[in-house]
Amino acid sequence: MPDIDVSSSPTISAAQPTSTLSEATPAITFDRVGVAYGRGKKATDALVDFNLKVAAGETVALLGPSGSGKSTALNALAGFVRPTSGSVRLDGRDVTDLPPAKRGIGVVLQSYALFPHMRVADNVAFGLKSHRVPRGEIGPRVAEALDMVGMSAFGKRLPRELSGGQQQRVAIARALAIRPRVLLLDEPLAALDAQLRQSMLAELQQLKQALPETAMLYVTHDQAEALALAHRIVVMNDARLMDVGTAENLWRRPPTSFTAAFLGGANLIPCTVGRVIGTSALVSIAHKTISAEAPQPTVGTIDWAPGSQALLCIRPHALQIVGLGHPEALRASVNASVWRGATTRVVLSVNGLPDRLIEVDAPGQAVYSIGTEVGLRFPQPAGVLVQTGR
Ligand code: ADP
Ligand code: MG
Repeated sequence: MPDIDVSSSPTISAAQPTSTLSEATPAITFDRVGVAYGRGKKATDALVDFNLKVAAGETVALLGPSGSGKSTALNALAGFVRPTSGSVRLDGRDVTDLPPAKRGIGVVLQSYALFPHMRVADNVAFGLKSHRVPRGEIGPRVAEALDMVGMSAFGKRLPRELSGGQQQRVAIARALAIRPRVLLLDEPLAALDAQLRQSMLAELQQLKQALPETAMLYVTHDQAEALALAHRIVVMNDARLMDVGTAENLWRRPPTSFTAAFLGGANLIPCTVGRVIGTSALVSIAHKTISAEAPQPTVGTIDWAPGSQALLCIRPHALQIVGLGHPEALRASVNASVWRGATTRVVLSVNGLPDRLIEVDAPGQAVYSIGTEVGLRFPQPAGVLVQTGR
């Protein structure tokens, strides 16, 4: 299980030379956290040996399919779920046994969880009262938090008098009012429609900039949200951390086929490795030789041995449909073609690659009738290799 070294993170490497021990202490630490629901034979592991460190000012996305343990990790940190093993720390302090309200964490949930009978301002003030903020300070703090989310004019409304997006803004304001060092967001945009999600995403980016010291843990199953917001992404699968890295690294050089597929719907095409020089390799796919990137991990090495099997990870937009006569093209036939507006998703079956459909995003509205024979062309170099079985 990879242990994450925050000292190599770009957000930390910019630390002042006078850095004291406390500055280097991660804002969030998950130390071998395990969570099982139920007991005995009925117990399900919702989180297994989960390790993660998040620096102050850093945003980390927990990305994974439904049921992969994302919310469980967040809830273990918030104190809503008791870890079965391991510990959670905030600024180096073990808070595993502390009640949620004593952790000083801001939490935003998908369901907003506003008090329906309380006006907006009272909802935002609620956490401040339980944190024993002096009475005279509550008004200004509520105003400040509502201002941060552009909801200053709505303090007197009831939640039911607001749209979904506005309710979520209030929920964010409520979390921010306590000026938390750590902000946890669990699928905060999932209940909003697509257009609103886009504008809220932009607002969350601005909020992040306005809170340069706050560590954020952002749970989502939406890769676009993770790429837009996170410095680093943790890919979760089946109660475990699969991969962790900067958004860019995981996108460009996915260490596992799971991450390749989950982060951007990559094609994973079986190939045979040929000659390897440094981090480039020649691979053969259906008797064509194609050059690809053969990456090396930051820790350890991968032996891309000539003759071994690998997967070529290549995204649909990087592939090209050309005429059958093209000298570099593989022969393919069209299985499906769906216009999506800016692009058309064409699904091809390639001669010599049985049981494997390849997805191509052709620009614009490209109409292919099913069964049409076309050429499939790979760019040079064509994508990046991923080890089989990973
Ligand atoms: P995610 O947020 O990634 O969708 P969760 O962390 O909610 O996943 O759930 C992880 C696993 O734990 C799932 O198999 C889920 O069914 C199970 N689980 C979650 N909460 C409970 C609970 N309160 N009791 C029993 N099982 C639960
Ligand atoms: Mg969840």
